[in-house]
Amino acid sequence: MTRPNPTIALYPGSFDPITRGHEDIVRRGLRVADRIIVAVAHTSTQSKRGLFSVDERVELISEVFDDEDRIEAMGFRGLLVDFAAAQGAHLVLRGLRAVSDFEYELQMAQMNQELNADIETLFLVPEVSNSFISSSLVREVAALGGDVSSFVSPSVLERLLAKLDG
Ligand code: ADP
Repeated sequence: MTRPNPTIALYPGSFDPITRGHEDIVRRGLRVADRIIVAVAHTSTQSKRGLFSVDERVELISEVFDDEDRIEAMGFRGLLVDFAAAQGAHLVLRGLRAVSDFEYELQMAQMNQELNADIETLFLVPEVSNSFISSSLVREVAALGGDVSSFVSPSVLERLLAKLDG
């Protein structure tokens, strides 16, 4: 396989909203990639139950990484491997928090391998203190009035509280 230069990695997910756990994975990803595209998936199921729209999620990610021009946020539709190829990305980053993530992640990585053998999935592990954070728990705890300020960046917190208020 010929190596593209620079190395572009895609970090796909729902990011509803982006958390400190996601940020941890992106920062680690910068150790192996020159550029990272944080890619927010448009899917019919996610758009139905999402708190933020895909455009809002992309905006939040861009704000969080405002200081880092190697990171960019985009929405995408369709197959992940097709979007990765269109962006010139040969690496897909995924985070592993616990054994519970593993089965689904392995299956998806192997399916993507079948779909496009040029794209490698790379699993990264967050710091222990970030490993229990999930977007769904953040949404749930915030909706019940719990303090989520240590799980998301200040700009996300502000938008989250405003969204839940309105
Ligand atoms: P999905 O709905 O596809 O799981 P998410 O936005 O929840 O999308 O997550 C995107 C990726 O980030 C997944 O690989 C997920 O395992 C990983 N991830 C989510 N939260 C964390 C976290 N706290 N630490 C490490 N990885 C995480």
